[in-house]
Amino acid sequence: MSNATSLNLAERLARPELLELEPYQSARRIGGRGDIWINANESPFNRTELARLNRYPECQPPELIEAYSKYSKVPAANIVCGRGADEAIELLIRAFCIPGRDSIAIFGPTYGMYGISAKTFNVGVNALSLTEDYALPDDIDGVKGCKLVFICNPNNPTGTVISVEKIEAVVKQLPEQLVVVDEAYIEFCPENSVAKLLESYPNLVILRTLSKAFALAGARCGFLMASTEVISIIMLVIAPYPVPLPVSTLAVNALSDDGISNMLADVELLEAQGKRLADELAELGATVVPSGANFVLAYFDDIATVSSGLKEAGIVARAYRDPRLLDAIRFSFTNEAETDQIVAALRNIL
Ligand code: PMP
Repeated sequence: MSNATSLNLAERLARPELLELEPYQSARRIGGRGDIWINANESPFNRTELARLNRYPECQPPELIEAYSKYSKVPAANIVCGRGADEAIELLIRAFCIPGRDSIAIFGPTYGMYGISAKTFNVGVNALSLTEDYALPDDIDGVKGCKLVFICNPNNPTGTVISVEKIEAVVKQLPEQLVVVDEAYIEFCPENSVAKLLESYPNLVILRTLSKAFALAGARCGFLMASTEVISIIMLVIAPYPVPLPVSTLAVNALSDDGISNMLADVELLEAQGKRLADELAELGATVVPSGANFVLAYFDDIATVSSGLKEAGIVARAYRDPRLLDAIRFSFTNEAETDQIVAALRNIL
């Protein structure tokens, strides 16, 4: 492992001490054969009807990985599941960034956890700016030297979408860095997924989640998709049993044909209500950012009045401290009845 010339890209980028580690035994433990299992200090007593919760789950439940592979059309060998996309962000930083030395690159305004995760591991954050229209800048020289380059697509909190071609150009431009495309909201604009590029680029990583379109935020289930080289490194740092058994059962169900139909129906409904809300906001004088996600960012002339009006109406929307977002509020799309109430409140306020 120490011969630098024989290392693959992921091994070259990984924290060097990780290459000395054996993958966790747990990743393979269920592969043993026998009738009496006394190897993991579990209880033999199953005290719940729910499932065999006295036993540890598999590290990577094969049914879950298979189900996500079928849904995403990405081979099972290129998928890792864990506790939401947030855990995947943390795993990437832990696996590839040397604390006190390495940095990640982000394009802001964007999702906060990239920066927070990096800082909690004493990893630097090179915060570059999206353009005025929230597009990726043409000049990305600033990301040179960063191990991980995060691109959120569609971007949270702006909802803006970056084309597959543009992302592919960045991936090509940075062959010795990992480009991490966070597709948490991709079900709301699936044609923009870069999943089809995975087989061509060992430096491309994609994050996915069941928290948004699949309506399972409370279950905490997400996926990291990448080359097998990157997956092997992630398997060195992942927790022994990241996905609780009931969660993988729920997730497999959500990824069944029926589950996917429900998800698609929900997406359609949310998009219709979101369009209604966005049109109404524009009509009422807000500046609305075109969105490819399940939320919309709107800028107001008098943000204080809008914020307090929403609060009084019992509507909890998201405001920001980022200087570029001080006059903006992000509204998540919701069902028809709640959209009616939000529209009524906004008409009252503006
Ligand atoms: N990425 C983005 C862009 C998000 O907005 C979120 C959640 N708000 C996440 C990742 C985290 O998703 P999860 O619930 O799967 O941890």
